[in-house]
Amino acid sequence: TGKAFVVSFGEMIIDFVPTVSGVSVAEAPGFVKAPGGAPANAAIAAARLGGHVAFIGKLGADEFGVMLAGILKDNGVDDKGVVFDDTARTGLSFVTLGKDGERDFMFYRNPSADMLLRESELNLDLIKRATIFHFGSISLIEEPCRSTQLAAMEIAKKEGALLSFDPNLRLRLWESPKVAQALIMEIWKQSNIIKVSDAEVEFLTNKDTVEDDAVMNLWHPELKLLLVTLGGKGCKYYTKDFRGTVNGIAVKAIDTTGAGDAFVGAMLRKIADDQSALQDEEKLREVLRFANACGAITTTKRGAIPALPVEAEVLELLER
Ligand code: ADP
Repeated sequence: TGKAFVVSFGEMIIDFVPTVSGVSVAEAPGFVKAPGGAPANAAIAAARLGGHVAFIGKLGADEFGVMLAGILKDNGVDDKGVVFDDTARTGLSFVTLGKDGERDFMFYRNPSADMLLRESELNLDLIKRATIFHFGSISLIEEPCRSTQLAAMEIAKKEGALLSFDPNLRLRLWESPKVAQALIMEIWKQSNIIKVSDAEVEFLTNKDTVEDDAVMNLWHPELKLLLVTLGGKGCKYYTKDFRGTVNGIAVKAIDTTGAGDAFVGAMLRKIADDQSALQDEEKLREVLRFANACGAITTTKRGAIPALPVEAEVLELLER
């Protein structure tokens, strides 16, 4: 079918979010559970906005895994690519919320089911139908998931999908910053759309601010769009022919968990529908205003997935 189809690959886990903000994980009086995992968040963000979306990943055959699969379904995400692992548990992460709504993570990986997806378990039909194939970097940290992701990327590309990469760097999970940087740059060179945060671009360019020239040093021939998110300030965009900034939308942020994923989901949903936005600056700015609004709304509510908006909420904020 000719319908745009976004396929997102990677981890879906449970986030434990502290019941109060501004404390470390150790100081938190308690946690509430919320579904999370960047690629799953992005898939659900795109689906809530009316996109045709599938998620590919592995869950534990435990209560959390069943709950997460239900959340994909409830949000209209195609879950035919979801596999359950009989031995490993669903991944968990403990989130710390700073007073400004910024967050940090601690992970349960022993290993967790999401790292155990095998190439033989890939749903090739979904991958071959993808308009955009999206992935992160946590699934690159360990085998067998790393090889599975590399294989899926290759199939998607061969079948004509655009590859979309959000490194979503969690440095502490990697053996060393050097190892992380090397592998991320390897994936980077194969990707057509990349979204990074300002902190990530600073890490990759070895600078302490976002410098356009340094960012352009990361350019490569496959790349069609590079996005750098700037928190409340919005985002920068870079293409072969034009670059600029789209300002963020002022809201009262209480929890930024999932803002980047909401931004990515919104951007993918729009670009899958109309790829001419990759060449047309006015169209691209329209897409990014929409994505900024989607990210902004997500910061005004607790948790990642529960905070993701539907299209009407985004349009309402844009018209205000
Ligand atoms: P990440 O979650 O990847 O670190 P950011 O925090 O930069 O990404 O947020 C992604 C997007 O969400 C931003 O580009 C912006 O559009 C929106 N956003 C994030 N924080 C805020 C905020 N405090 N106020 C308004 N919009 C925000």
